[in-house]
Amino acid sequence: MNNKVNLFSMLPKVDELLSDNRINNLMGKIPREYVVEAIREELDIIRKGIRNGEYNVNTLKKETEKLPLYIVNRATNKARPNLKRVVNATGVVIHTNLGRSLISRSVLNNVVEVASNYSNLEFDLDKGIRGSRYSHIEEIITRITGAESALVVNNNAAAVMLVLSTLAKDKEVIVSRGELVEIGGSFRVPDVMEQSGAKLVDVGTTNKTHLWDYENAINEDTAALLKVHTSNYRILGFTSSVELDELVKLGEKYNIPVIEDLGSGVLVDLSKYGLCYEPTVQDSIKKGADVVTFSGDKLLGGPQAGIIVGKKIYIDRMKKNPLTRAFRVDKFTLAALEPTLSLYLNENEAIKKIPTLNMITMSNDELNEKAKILFDKIKTNIDDRLEIKIVDQFSQVGGGSLPLEKLPTKALEISSYLIGASELEKGLRMYETPIISRIYKDKLYLDVRTIGEDEFDIIVNALKAIADNL
Ligand SMILES: *Cc1c(COP(=O)(O)O)cnc(C)c1O
Repeated sequence: MNNKVNLFSMLPKVDELLSDNRINNLMGKIPREYVVEAIREELDIIRKGIRNGEYNVNTLKKETEKLPLYIVNRATNKARPNLKRVVNATGVVIHTNLGRSLISRSVLNNVVEVASNYSNLEFDLDKGIRGSRYSHIEEIITRITGAESALVVNNNAAAVMLVLSTLAKDKEVIVSRGELVEIGGSFRVPDVMEQSGAKLVDVGTTNKTHLWDYENAINEDTAALLKVHTSNYRILGFTSSVELDELVKLGEKYNIPVIEDLGSGVLVDLSKYGLCYEPTVQDSIKKGADVVTFSGDKLLGGPQAGIIVGKKIYIDRMKKNPLTRAFRVDKFTLAALEPTLSLYLNENEAIKKIPTLNMITMSNDELNEKAKILFDKIKTNIDDRLEIKIVDQFSQVGGGSLPLEKLPTKALEISSYLIGASELEKGLRMYETPIISRIYKDKLYLDVRTIGEDEFDIIVNALKAIADNL
């Protein structure tokens, strides 16, 4: 016990640490409150170590010498935003936990310009009177999708809710039981329908729904027929579902609108690039859907948004629904969405400049090339404490899109006789710029598809820091 008391008295006081040059240098750059907090927290960690008998006089002396560095790191981290960039080495392109779609750099200028200056957000420059924030974006959406009219809200869940609330409040909506999907735990089609005030009538069975299932359920309370694109799973085998065009014919026969929730907003035919065919928004409009909803930040590759397109008579009613105000889209979103959509006027531009599309269509040659460059960089900077090789793997599209698509990719497999895969994973994850990797069968993988070439140095430095600590 006496020995421990001695150790405690070896610790520097808060004031002493505050006057240490390295720590004092932080003043003016970092709020004093963070610096003092960092000092207290680092001291507490050492005190706990002393209580647990982790130190003797010598080791404690060494540790207190490093203390100012720990404090500088901790205080610096406190001053950084909690929400920050990470390196996505998982190979999941639309990674819901890592920010879904990346905004194209080519549209960022416009976001900065609009956000840091006044704008005509709700001002009609031609007439000099109040305008609508929705008018800016409607033209480009209708041009690309071929729809009569369009409206943008905060996200696709809000879009679905707005559509149902407008067209089917206190009325019935018929939907196939095989399409009652849940997305990411927080969006369940039946729950959203309930919240919108629409009554759900589910027809058919999990694997089979026929046109007559819908027709039999139609009565005077039916307000809409809903088709939900089961974008995040597939039922395979003995199945049948009703195609959109058949549903449209049925809707016309009974004068009932047909709504389609497409989930991912695909605006180019991905089968041209060797991917599975995913229904496009243009197809749904061509086939006669009255209203179509989709996300802005899944396969579309833009900011978070819910886009509603369709017949003007229905969209006009939605614009007047008070929920539209509650779901209203902000100016950052509009400033990013409009130029993203403009890229689609030239498909090659879209594929090249929209990161989501670029990554899912990346060629084998490109992936190979990237893997080799990263491999060489790591090899030349780190000796054989880390073992690395290039292996064949599969990436995923993610974001509940194209669930069956397995994209052949190249990954770096990294292991070490000195450290386990999960420790290595943690080291990368805790790095200054966190690197999120994948572990499979006790091996760590970095999938090059989702890693930018400008991020290679971050990875090399992180691995070097980890190796130097082994
Ligand atoms: C993703 C998805 C939604 C929800 O879209 P958010 O933009 O995440 O709100 C709704 N319906 C379907 C079919 C989806 O795939």
